[in-house]
Amino acid sequence: MIRSTIDGRSIRRTKAICLLSGGLDSALAAKLMLDQGIQVDGVHFIIPFGRLDKQGSDLPVHRVADCLGIEIEIIRLGAEYLEIVRSPRHGYGSNVNPCIDCKILMLKMAGELMRTRGADFIVTGEVVGQRPMSQRLDSMRRIEKKSGLEGYLVRPLSAHLLPPTKPEIEGLVRREDLLGIRGRSRKDLMSLAKEKGIAGYSSPAGGCLLTDPRYAQRVSDLLRHDMLSLHDIDLLSVGRHFRLPHGSKLVVGRNERDNDSLSRLADESDNVLTTPEVPGPTAIQRGPGMSEDEGLAGRIVARYSDAGASDKVKIHIAGPGGEDSVEVDPLDPGEAGELMI
Ligand code: SF4
Repeated sequence: MIRSTIDGRSIRRTKAICLLSGGLDSALAAKLMLDQGIQVDGVHFIIPFGRLDKQGSDLPVHRVADCLGIEIEIIRLGAEYLEIVRSPRHGYGSNVNPCIDCKILMLKMAGELMRTRGADFIVTGEVVGQRPMSQRLDSMRRIEKKSGLEGYLVRPLSAHLLPPTKPEIEGLVRREDLLGIRGRSRKDLMSLAKEKGIAGYSSPAGGCLLTDPRYAQRVSDLLRHDMLSLHDIDLLSVGRHFRLPHGSKLVVGRNERDNDSLSRLADESDNVLTTPEVPGPTAIQRGPGMSEDEGLAGRIVARYSDAGASDKVKIHIAGPGGEDSVEVDPLDPGEAGELMI
């Protein structure tokens, strides 16, 4: 609650913290609160499993916050997030997405902001039945309880399907102006957003990269090899990935952009492989068994170069042991495919 005075009279302005994703639902939820005269501060969480090109300062959520005229705080999640991906208490969704634990973590952190900033409650854009794991009625109740926000979590888009929250009971929020939307259809939400002049929101992407089957396979591989670290995650959305027999991992660029990213992401403990005599990819080899797997890594890199299938290919290797060159035969595509993650 914000207190200020006009003509010596004390007035109280209700304040909420809204989790903004940059998408339509949370923008609309915030707008419904603003329309009731409630002050809204936005908070946006960035999880470590994002695309490298989507981590800059020009995020959709900045455009949404500008459109709503509200402040936004960006919070990057790190080690604490890896822990819930390693062993989510409430399990995974269809891939390696720990949606329930993820929401609990974000809401706990939002709850901290609520307390430190003297806000009255938390707002989210959740819609009952919109997502299979975290937006079922029972999951939504569990998330509210486990995040320690019982009674203080307002979900304006589906409020009429949920019990009244404390701010509604106490009259800080007019329940009759909230909605009762259920399900996956976005038609009503989009026409309401248009009516309310909300623009700049991102299109629904169906969740984060952890819900993407191909990406999830790469995360599962890191989990199996006990290599899930912030350092290794950066590589996940770049190039083709291979797990080699002695335990090392090889990431091979698919195009110039991947090659540039791999050159940038390599560190002093990695081998960096290139083909100096023919156009070809840049690759990073990392992890245990690097020297035993080096020849095979070179053959995979040669397979993706412009050399013919029967040509010898010179591979340059720069790594912790210094620089070296080897001549290899490109690996058969079928054999390379079997090692692909
Ligand atoms: S889709 Fe990803 S970001 Fe969204 S709740 Fe699930 S794990 Fe969290």
